[in-house]
Amino acid sequence: MGPETANLAEKSLKSRFQRLKATSLRLRNEPLSERKARLRKLESWIHSHRDRIRQSIHDDYKKPLLEVDTSEIYPVLAELRHALRHLEEWARPVKIDATLTFVGTRSEIRYEPKGTCLIIAPWNFPFNLCLGPLVSCLAAGNNAIVKPSELTPHTSALVRELVAEVFSEDIAIVVEGGVEVSQQLLELPFDHIFFTGSTAVGKLVMQAAGKNLSSVTLELGGKSPTLIDRTANLNDAAKRIAFGKFFNNGQTCIAPDYLLVEKTVHDRFVGLLKEEVLKLFGESGSVSEQSASYARLATTRQYHRISELVEDALQRGAHAERLGTFNEKVNFMAPVFLTEISPDARIWEEEIFGPVLPIETFESVGEAVEIINNRPKPLALYIFSHDKGFQEHLLRHTSSGTACINECVLQFTHPNLPFGGVNQSGIGKSHGQYGFLAFSNEKPILRQKSGWATPYLLYPPYTNRMKKIVDLLLKWF
Ligand code: NAD
Repeated sequence: MGPETANLAEKSLKSRFQRLKATSLRLRNEPLSERKARLRKLESWIHSHRDRIRQSIHDDYKKPLLEVDTSEIYPVLAELRHALRHLEEWARPVKIDATLTFVGTRSEIRYEPKGTCLIIAPWNFPFNLCLGPLVSCLAAGNNAIVKPSELTPHTSALVRELVAEVFSEDIAIVVEGGVEVSQQLLELPFDHIFFTGSTAVGKLVMQAAGKNLSSVTLELGGKSPTLIDRTANLNDAAKRIAFGKFFNNGQTCIAPDYLLVEKTVHDRFVGLLKEEVLKLFGESGSVSEQSASYARLATTRQYHRISELVEDALQRGAHAERLGTFNEKVNFMAPVFLTEISPDARIWEEEIFGPVLPIETFESVGEAVEIINNRPKPLALYIFSHDKGFQEHLLRHTSSGTACINECVLQFTHPNLPFGGVNQSGIGKSHGQYGFLAFSNEKPILRQKSGWATPYLLYPPYTNRMKKIVDLLLKWF
């Protein structure tokens, strides 16, 4: 793009943003029925374009069609239906009781739309992570610009088409593009920015948001530890981890990043895990390009990044078990188990985000806690154990955005649970009512009665009588 074209594009972006801003004032007064009508229109578009959604994500990185249904289309529809069912209840002002010092006042909390919001999405669930936050955003009465990932061009183009067909330009628009476009958008004074992506870019987004004091929700990544102790049902654990780690080819923010297995059950568990991976994704004893249930890495860059992580671990003495073939030309990488990894291997520092599973052992719960706490707070903690003491010790001595016991990745789709990270793995929560709140200003309103009111007791002049009242206040109220 030449400088003149870039200038024009920036001007048009600003004028589209101004239009959204102007409309957002009107939206504050809109009845809930209008918001619901918008969500219903979106729902109906998704139903009537299911095959195109499936095809576009398949074209981007050969994601199995049924996996598109379960992990892209269904979560958005579930979010939509949940919002349609509960919107009145979420948006209803909440009456607040007066405490003794506020006798005579009446208070409430109202849920006011924040205004014009920016949603920036990653490539790993390219439909779900654009549309899911948009549902919460619109349910809360806002309008939005959505910036899908440049790395899934088929799906991004389809999301643009969807938004243009379903919404007018003063409700939602899609702006496609890469880092530069994202940076241009981040200069605008949005009322809220909802970013899903890597921790490194999340920091840049927060910095940019600081210039306008836009509020942020940051849905980031990290290394989610998965523990298996000797009391776990090893068959269940193997099946659930095989799915949670390797579906979407490991490119899931909440996928188990590494395993910590109690030493006494390590060999038995790893054997079972291998069997389960092959049952779910393999054919004739290995995971091959012919598998219709196994996705690809989204880009060659990912392929190289992950291959380098494995190579680095091997050079430092790790042992690798590859459960199938590799083909760089089509970004195909079968599951890899890594054991005996040196503590200075790069794989312990970076989020893997691919089908490679480092497996480490532990001998005591204290040792496991230390390993987890030596790293940034993860997005998820998974505990496979039937020992309540072990579970509680881990929950109380570590910090993570979310946690599951005897399960993994499922927490993302529970409509009544908040989803999100903590510090390095994210800021703020999303989904269901928590998503509605992320896009709302919880506005407290206090109403005072006419005539004498309790605060008068504390108005000057500051007499001795007032000192006695203040002493009582400090002691009792
Ligand atoms: P990314 O951070 O590289 O990109 C995300 C978005 O930010 C893209 O739209 C991209 O165009 C934009 N972007 C990239 N660099 C930018 C910059 N310098 N300035 C402004 N915008 C920029 O992430 P990704 O590689 O697309 O996705 C993978 C990451 O997302 C992983 O870390 C994963 O854990 C995380 N993730 C988190 C969640 C969650 O819900 N917490 C869900 C999915 C993915």
